[in-house]
Amino acid sequence: MSESNFFACRQCGYCCQGETTVSLDQADQERLSAHLGLPFAEVKARYLRVTGKTVQMKTVDGHCIFYDNGCTVHEGKPWRCRQWPLHPSMLADSSNFETIRNSCPGFKTGLTYEEFRLAMSKD
Ligand code: SF4
Ligand code: SF4
Repeated sequence: MSESNFFACRQCGYCCQGETTVSLDQADQERLSAHLGLPFAEVKARYLRVTGKTVQMKTVDGHCIFYDNGCTVHEGKPWRCRQWPLHPSMLADSSNFETIRNSCPGFKTGLTYEEFRLAMSKD
């Protein structure tokens, strides 16, 4: 079973909701800055929340600042957003699998941990 057989993003935006976002590494920050066509200092001031060494996107009204009926920075979004929801922690632990599967309607209905592990081992 390939990924396309058990997952199809429904563009519902649930994963862009909340009071925090994924964190951005250096490459993410550079990609976002290039995508927006703005100097990083301006991107940081307008769009990012920096807490110690952690750089996240700001949130507005309970969602990522870049969410507006979908991601508005698709080509420039962080790698963790690209990876979601197929996070490595899903493979490591069935409770992580359940938590993420239940938070994302893109997974095939009734997908089990065993099916998921089997499918991922073939990719
Ligand atoms: S929660 Fe899942 S289905 Fe919805 S937008 Fe995010 S990845 Fe796609
Ligand atoms: S960058 Fe895009 S995909 Fe990532 S949380 Fe923000 S709106 Fe969602």
